[in-house]
Amino acid sequence: MAERIDIDGVSVSPDHFIGNRRVSSPRTFETRCPFDWDRKLADVALGDADTAKQAVAAATEAFPAWAALSAKERAAYLNRLSDLIEENKEKLALVECLDMAMLLESLQLRVISRAALNFRNYADLAVEHEERVWSSKGTLNRVIRMPAGPALIITPWNAPFMLSTWKCAPALAAGNTVILKPAEWSPLSASMLGDLIDEAGFPPGVFNIVQGGAEIGNALTSDPGIKRISFTGSVPTARVIGRNAAENIVPFTAELGGKSALLVFEDADIDAAAKKAAGQYDDSGQVCMAGSRVIVQESVKDEFLERFNHYADQHVLGDSMDPATTVSAMIHPTHVERVLGFIERARERGDEIVRGGKRWKEGQNWVEPTLIMPRDNNSEVVQSEIFGPVLTFQTFASEEDGVALANSTQYGLSGIVYTGNAERAERVGRQVRGGTVWVNTFLVRDLTAPFGGIGISGIGREGGDYALDFHSDLKTLQILE
Ligand code: NAD
Repeated sequence: MAERIDIDGVSVSPDHFIGNRRVSSPRTFETRCPFDWDRKLADVALGDADTAKQAVAAATEAFPAWAALSAKERAAYLNRLSDLIEENKEKLALVECLDMAMLLESLQLRVISRAALNFRNYADLAVEHEERVWSSKGTLNRVIRMPAGPALIITPWNAPFMLSTWKCAPALAAGNTVILKPAEWSPLSASMLGDLIDEAGFPPGVFNIVQGGAEIGNALTSDPGIKRISFTGSVPTARVIGRNAAENIVPFTAELGGKSALLVFEDADIDAAAKKAAGQYDDSGQVCMAGSRVIVQESVKDEFLERFNHYADQHVLGDSMDPATTVSAMIHPTHVERVLGFIERARERGDEIVRGGKRWKEGQNWVEPTLIMPRDNNSEVVQSEIFGPVLTFQTFASEEDGVALANSTQYGLSGIVYTGNAERAERVGRQVRGGTVWVNTFLVRDLTAPFGGIGISGIGREGGDYALDFHSDLKTLQILE
């Protein structure tokens, strides 16, 4: 067991959490603070095939007893964990901020509480949806949710705590044991979850956390002991995981990248739409659902751009602990280089960089909020997810053209539409390709609604009883009445 680390007064374990014990690895990897890159936060255990075996063994051993509990009994554990997350909100917010650079204020005010709510919500939903019973054709019918087995949850580096809890809660509530593998660039808040799982009294092996990257990821996704794989991350990794899942015939959900349109009609509240568009630079654009393609009706182009620039000018780049900051640092220098590469290639092909386009300060992890007017719709900056503070700007003449532009990528995670016309809201809302489409708003979520992507944005749906279905083997039992 490695020594615990003190991060600004918060004690964090750099180890795995398997069977409610801390387990170290011979090798480690570094995690650094994105907005203070010289600051190393921890050397974290680098999991391998052996770690994967230990975690699967612990989750397999714990499964029968956890699965045998009623949804109500499991809910008591989830609710305790939810309370502990709330009680430890300040500590979790601080560590997540230092490790991932999400703005401290937003973590304190919203994000950590939403993570707590994920457990509470699934505690209730699993009780509500435990069984369906009805009579038909002279038989009593029951749909029984049978827990599937150990579930593997793999998460990306952006919004690590919120996403981990969003994905682990339904698995646990459905009666599966869990192995969570967070991403290497922001591993620390998930490690803190291990302490809270222990404190909440979960039986050993029910909820395990392993650290590392592709090596342990491959070992886990190939292990026949894993009965569900729930992945959030990039398209290339999904392809690898999907092949391993296919080998073992294991159900697999994938929440992947996006390149969502923010479609603005001339009848919209242009000021509100422009403000929302400038808000897409929040978290340095490292948001899967970001409306990164701004598509505006030609007739209001000038008015929109004037208001957009007004709001974009107000952004403050800086330290994520500072309440004045609105644009956080990007996660890692490698990612900064990747984003700058997109901008450079766009410049070379003749796309017009109308705002930003450079690293903010030499040697640091910010890219200026950037707006690009592409020469045409085939530009890489229009067609590929950049996952940085880079928006494209295009215009359209008719509603039909606007919708066609919005739907012209391989992605389909979400969409944002601004219009003042209720009929158009319904019509265009239905036509825009995306698992979630918001009209005149953004990121409002009801946790019982399905969430997922179309096309290369993903497979399957999370949220509500959709995630409970995924984590269960549904059985129909019919008894002659
Ligand atoms: P990534 O695919 O590089 O990594 C995601 C996770 O997969 C990490 O935990 C990583 O360690 C793990 N991994 C890598 N190789 C693996 C392998 N061979 N086997 C098993 N696991 C492996 O993605 P990322 O860069 O961490 O995250 C950014 C991406 O995530 C973006 O595309 C973003 O849009 C997407 N994302 C999607 C959603 C959504 O809900 N749709 C939410 C957040 C992020």
